[in-house]
Amino acid sequence: MSAAVAGPETAARATATAGTPAAARRLQVGGLTPFTSIDYPGQLAAVVFVQGCPWRCGYCHNPHLQARGQDQGPSWSEVLELLRRRAGLLDAVVFSGGEPTVDPALPQAIAEVRALGFKVGLHSAGIYTQRLQAVLPLVDWVGLDIKAPLADAARHDRVTQTRHGADAVRRSLATLVQQSRATGLAYECRTTAHPTLLDDAALLQLADELAEAGVAQWALQIFRTQGAASDLPAVASDYPSPATLQRLRQRLPAMTLRRG
Ligand code: SF4
Repeated sequence: MSAAVAGPETAARATATAGTPAAARRLQVGGLTPFTSIDYPGQLAAVVFVQGCPWRCGYCHNPHLQARGQDQGPSWSEVLELLRRRAGLLDAVVFSGGEPTVDPALPQAIAEVRALGFKVGLHSAGIYTQRLQAVLPLVDWVGLDIKAPLADAARHDRVTQTRHGADAVRRSLATLVQQSRATGLAYECRTTAHPTLLDDAALLQLADELAEAGVAQWALQIFRTQGAASDLPAVASDYPSPATLQRLRQRLPAMTLRRG
């Protein structure tokens, strides 16, 4: 996912988050990208970055969004006002993060965006299966992060720097595939790859798992140092090896390799 562009803090937001029940239902926005062509395939979109994520991936491009309750982005009202002005100019709005399903106001925010005539995209790491399941009928496209082979819990914990996340992601993936089969919901699975976290054997294991789960669209996103608060070294251009890439494509012929 893109790095968030933080919006201006406003006095209005400070007032709006003063603790009223209505304010508690407002989406906690951490930033806004008003225009992008890369966060929802084939669509011109704005990206709303939602505050909060319980994981601590070492390569996270938005670590400032991991905590909730920060006055660092535009208010949800300000976002809606901007989107009203963009109606007809943008195709879609993507909710990203952080982990957007952490916010109980997400379903309401999606409904408000749909009412303005936009398609809705969702970036999620599948951390909260039930919350993901609840919003799948409301969205048009999902980008689901799969951090590591889900049968390798220890590796998954190393990547996310959090324990016991893989089981929830496995359930979320199954839920997403099922929803797509039932309704035609479009989605892709995406994996950020760095050789110190995912060696070639782990990539092949993950590709096997995704193929077995029924996934067709998989984007392998090679780690980029730009914008990452990480001490991971830059990735050499021969990762994954050509032989491994060929074997990955045998498993998932429609996979996409994204570098830079
Ligand atoms: S899942 Fe990982 S990469 Fe995504 S927001 Fe959370 S810590 Fe960052």
